[in-house]
Amino acid sequence: MKRYKIKDTKSIHSNCGVFGIYNHPQAAIMAYYGLHALQHRGQESAGIVTSEYLPDKKRYHFNVHKDFGLTLNIFNAKILTEILKGNSAIAHNRYSTAGASDRRTNIQPFKVVYKDGNIALSHNGNLTNANSLRLKLQQEGTIFQTTCDSEIFLHLIAKSQEKNIIDKLKEVFSIIRGSYSLCILTDDSVIAARDPFGVRPLSFGKLGNSYVFASETSSFDIIEAEYIREVEPGEIIQIDKEVVETGKEKSYKFANEKSYKHCIFEYIYFSRPDSIIFNEKVDKVRRKIGKNLAVEKPPPKQEKEDKRIIVINVPDSSNTATIGYVSEVSKNRKDVKHEIGLIRSHYVGRTFIQPGQDIREIRLKTKFSIIKGVLEGRKVIIVDDSIVRGNTLKLLVKLIRKAKPKEIHLRITSPPIISPCFYGMDFPSKEELIAYRHKGNVEEIRKELDVDSLEYLSIDKLLESVPFSTKKTGYCTACFTCEYPIPIDDIEDVNKEKFED
Ligand code: SF4
Repeated sequence: MKRYKIKDTKSIHSNCGVFGIYNHPQAAIMAYYGLHALQHRGQESAGIVTSEYLPDKKRYHFNVHKDFGLTLNIFNAKILTEILKGNSAIAHNRYSTAGASDRRTNIQPFKVVYKDGNIALSHNGNLTNANSLRLKLQQEGTIFQTTCDSEIFLHLIAKSQEKNIIDKLKEVFSIIRGSYSLCILTDDSVIAARDPFGVRPLSFGKLGNSYVFASETSSFDIIEAEYIREVEPGEIIQIDKEVVETGKEKSYKFANEKSYKHCIFEYIYFSRPDSIIFNEKVDKVRRKIGKNLAVEKPPPKQEKEDKRIIVINVPDSSNTATIGYVSEVSKNRKDVKHEIGLIRSHYVGRTFIQPGQDIREIRLKTKFSIIKGVLEGRKVIIVDDSIVRGNTLKLLVKLIRKAKPKEIHLRITSPPIISPCFYGMDFPSKEELIAYRHKGNVEEIRKELDVDSLEYLSIDKLLESVPFSTKKTGYCTACFTCEYPIPIDDIEDVNKEKFED
């Protein structure tokens, strides 16, 4: 059996946003706004598929529009109102690392026609037995149109001999392993489903007589939908005409794991602070993470000759955690204050370099600028959410040093990342991870980043910061611990080593 090396899987690894809506006269417009509020989950491409009933032909037709780029550049009023007609829609946006050149056919939602009608699918997550399933399907004659693991769902649905879509899905989910939060559009229903461990979030809401699903509740807020609850791990929810009439969603359980494994990184970095995921407000959890970091890894002492110590956030990802950090520190100390020392530009486009210039440095400078007056002569604490390769942080430290601070101290709201993610977060290979390269030796990482001190949040304090709202709540922490809760069948190169923090 051919097996993936970690690097080879990068093109199929993506973290994405999914959205679905049933029974809305402007389903495509709602999907557009829903995607807009999920833009942080994927900036490479986006797509919407709608289901339109054609009364003269007495059948449904699926309309589709998708492209590379940001949601606001892909769709316009004409596309949303004249092409994407229909009362139900699903949508997707996709993440890829800068410079990756993905295929157009990989843009989701995927749409096909099979023996039971039209079907379209949006997937957030990553399958861990995709390679063997793909090989098996190919040997049976299946022709794949994409290089994306999500396509496997559609082939398995089409092959299933079960009578209805719910039983087909149950059969498919018994074969597939990995993480998946799905929105599925059939001719006359919208279906959402979540893997048995609930790795990625998926929320369920209502908007008047319409029903909505989204990766994060930030999508609900923008269209003023009401949050009902999460799609449970191991649950399928189907919304159709009958549900609209009765007001009661159709729910089917297909798995019953003892403990869920939500991605803890969603709370650290990925989800928007205004969202609710895994039954809790991200803002609240992220502040608590910042507070616990302050308890565990406070700022250095103020010397007699020091001015007040400055804590700065790296906008926007560490804004909330920094507020938590400073509020905790300020309980006992008057020598520390929060300042805006970095400004982030949201208008980063193409960069042009001169011979000898570092493209990454130019890119960073187009993204961040420093406020010299705030930083000069001060001890500066930078609070950041995580260190992956360390390249950006190294450049950021170099940029901040231009303001001539007295010292630079780094405080990180997560433990060292020592292993890649196989459940949908697009990390680089382990050899590229700075903490892996230094075998978890924090002092060596500090030296490479050229800072005066470096401290990470411990895994225990991280777990203390996140909610355990139900008996089954649990978390995946594999990128910090190498303990992968879902078997990774197809990847031979899983790092089993552990390092001292
Ligand atoms: S490995 Fe890390 S990023 Fe991936 S699901 Fe687990 S906690 Fe999240």
